[in-house]
Amino acid sequence: MTATLIEHADVLITMDVARREIKDGALLIQDNAIAWVGPSAEIPRPDPSDPYTVINARGKIVLPGFVNTHHHFYQTLTRVIPAAQDVVLFDWLKTLYPIWAELTPDDVFVSTQLALTELLLSGCTTSSDHHYLWPNGSRLDDQFAAAETVGSRFHGARGSMSLGESKGGLPPDRVTDSEENILRDSRRVVETYHDPRRFAMRRVLLAPCSPFSVTPDLMRESVVLARSFGQEMDVHLHTHLAETRDEEAFCLERFGYRPGDYAEQLGWVGKDVWHAHCVHLNQAEIDLFARTKTGVAHCPTSNMRLASGIAPVRSMRDAGVPVGLGVDGSAPMTAATCSTKRANACCCSG
Ligand SMILES: [Zn+2]
Repeated sequence: MTATLIEHADVLITMDVARREIKDGALLIQDNAIAWVGPSAEIPRPDPSDPYTVINARGKIVLPGFVNTHHHFYQTLTRVIPAAQDVVLFDWLKTLYPIWAELTPDDVFVSTQLALTELLLSGCTTSSDHHYLWPNGSRLDDQFAAAETVGSRFHGARGSMSLGESKGGLPPDRVTDSEENILRDSRRVVETYHDPRRFAMRRVLLAPCSPFSVTPDLMRESVVLARSFGQEMDVHLHTHLAETRDEEAFCLERFGYRPGDYAEQLGWVGKDVWHAHCVHLNQAEIDLFARTKTGVAHCPTSNMRLASGIAPVRSMRDAGVPVGLGVDGSAPMTAATCSTKRANACCCSG
């Protein structure tokens, strides 16, 4: 067994149910689990016959690792593109899709290393990533290989886009894939990488990109596939929802539903589902999410950058919707907001 003792932290913040904050706090880590927290004077010393590491945290605060609930790692390579500045979401996407169409497996690997390293430097130890285009032979395998080199806990999304311009969707056809391929590869990566055990370093989620880039059939089939693995595997589902007024209009016009109602029609509610953004949910949709324990990744930085609106987080929390924070992709960022965003990083509540 390997042990690490962190002691004499000015404050140790537990984030436990009682929200305890321990002055002159200490923390004992055995193998990869926290075994004990409490005042430094009371900490049980590890067996001295086994060598262990001691870290003196005087002058420091110790707090749990943050959890990032929404990101697009590959976008770390396309920050500050002049043509994508000062535009709203749909125009921003249409500017960047042709650049992203050139991504290679090596680009996916390097951008995953870069994004996870930035996250670790700001205290984030667990991150999901919503990667939804796989051009030029790139695969989720490239991301898991990169995450292993960084040592970060990684929940990789087998994301997808299937509704190209020729079918009335937003992305160019060449960054979309057939639904048959998407579902086949989704099954493969779950079977290869998904680890449902406690302390797992790798989990897989199924994540069609958004209502305007996949068909209702793929949304339904993804739910069926994720749940077909059973409760023990607990494969989760993730997508973008209700991010902008444009999306709301698209859903009403194309599907005849508001975004939250559309999600319910597709089976995309439940404690195994979380949606990014949810800026434009109405109270009935918030109540639906609360009732079904459907989660939300709140991404305030990108919502502000793209002027998408302000998510009704207070109403969501009051109703009992589980809400976490997400950094979202970094491609919208200007050089100045990039560093702000890293500093703000992320955390998870509920
Ligand atoms: Zn996003």
